[in-house]
Amino acid sequence: MCPKCREPMIIVEFQGVEIDCCVECGGRWLDAGELTWIAELAGAQPGKISEAIERAAPGPRVDRRCPRCMRRLRAITVAADEPIELDRCPKGHGLWFDAGEMQAVIGAFHDGEDGEVARLLGELHHGKLESKSKGE
Ligand SMILES: [Zn+2]
Ligand SMILES: [Zn+2]
Repeated sequence: MCPKCREPMIIVEFQGVEIDCCVECGGRWLDAGELTWIAELAGAQPGKISEAIERAAPGPRVDRRCPRCMRRLRAITVAADEPIELDRCPKGHGLWFDAGEMQAVIGAFHDGEDGEVARLLGELHHGKLESKSKGE
């Protein structure tokens, strides 16, 4: 269930990673460890990303719930050129990215051309759209 709008999420498989995507808000849930794998695929720096997330300043609990344990997520602010606010499960199940935030995080820890990141995330978006036609 989407932590934000509480709609069921769809699972998109991306290069062996299962990503929960919300078709309503475009947000994505990554289980613990999946972000570093995606970062690696995107040519970003997984070590730096996990370090930045470890060090992120914890903020207040938010009115969003972990899709795994239903606990309220806690906002964290990841230090990058432009600080990025994510939501994390207090039990460490994973991270919630609002639409566009995953791209922002990967872009922030990416050395080279952004083209590859954009391509990978574009594929992801495409996969999301193909996995389900939204017709309730
Ligand atoms: Zn949603
Ligand atoms: Zn949890």
